[in-house]
Amino acid sequence: KTVLVTGTTGFIAQHIVDKLLQKKYRVIGTARSEIKYQPLLKEYKNKYLNCEIIFEIVEDISIDNAFDEIFIKHPEIIYVIHTASPFIYGLNKPLEDSFLKPAVDGTLNILKAISKYAPQVTNVVLTSSFAAIKQMGKSYTTHIHSNKSWNLINWNAVKNETDAYIASKAYAEKEARKFYEKENSNFKLATVNPTYVFGPQCFDNLVGPILNVSNEILNTITKIDKDNKLPQVIFGALAIDVRDVAEFHIKAIEDPKLFSERIFIASEPVTGQKVLDILNSSCNDLQGKIAKGDPTMTQQLIDENCPKYDISNIINLIGGYEFITLKQSLCDVFEQYFRMNS
Ligand code: NDP
Repeated sequence: KTVLVTGTTGFIAQHIVDKLLQKKYRVIGTARSEIKYQPLLKEYKNKYLNCEIIFEIVEDISIDNAFDEIFIKHPEIIYVIHTASPFIYGLNKPLEDSFLKPAVDGTLNILKAISKYAPQVTNVVLTSSFAAIKQMGKSYTTHIHSNKSWNLINWNAVKNETDAYIASKAYAEKEARKFYEKENSNFKLATVNPTYVFGPQCFDNLVGPILNVSNEILNTITKIDKDNKLPQVIFGALAIDVRDVAEFHIKAIEDPKLFSERIFIASEPVTGQKVLDILNSSCNDLQGKIAKGDPTMTQQLIDENCPKYDISNIINLIGGYEFITLKQSLCDVFEQYFRMNS
């Protein structure tokens, strides 16, 4: 069975493709250029000797009809997993061009192409985000977030890149659902809405000194002045491991109970202080070399800064699930990081 995965060069998509190949799916990946996908293709071919994977180039998902040719050329595509969306800061372009347009138009372009050219597609999974769920302002820490919650952020209120990213994800998911309902499409539509994603890169050889946006925040934390004894928040969020995020994308095409769900997933709350506590107690390469902050404040910082949440409906639906812990994610990130950067 053939799966189209967009944005295959990305952190999360690499793990999704890895799991798909392991399960013997045939994969068509999209990437912006051959230079970007070649190293990845080599890694997959090395790891899974007889795997079936090819790449198609989609330079920019936001250009009209960006995906039409792929569906015309590949009538064998049954499943679509759309992960591509800008998650990069410092582009120095208008926020609308950097975030909103590619996120929204990219998502609509793929849905339109499926509706026009691919009646055989049975399932579409969009990588949305907790960004489309989270409440802004004071409600962030008081509201009990569930997969019924919607972020009502207005683009006109967006002033910086962080908010632009958040809004782009909320708008993209909303527009996708609107399109889906209006078109009365043949396929089932699920979204996976992960929180902050940590975890190792899929391939050791592709680990550089700078990690993807969500993991790179960990590097920032390791650089806090070692003598800093203040309680560290840096961010109050919810965490999830990339391997679990990939797993839920696969479940969304395999488990009928999830085919039409909004799959909000999170493993546990995270703050800068909690990251420091874990790294100081469990990461051999960093123990004694990084700030300690104030470990007596860990729980209070979590209570005051992290969102409350309830994902029991999704987890009950699949009969339970054990998430990889934040401690495991962080240990795996830095074990790999130091091994490949020393
Ligand atoms: P990455 O930046 O690693 O991956 C994003 C992918 O999208 C890259 O392959 C990128 O290609 C591609 N892409 C971005 N813009 C375009 C465009 N205009 N045209 C074509 N391709 C494009 O990020 P992640 O793997 O972390 O994110 C993947 C998805 O998961 C995104 O939708 C993100 O919003 C979502 N998500 C991520 C979370 C996280 O904490 N990491 C949390 C919740 C959701 P290139 O690199 O060549 O630009």
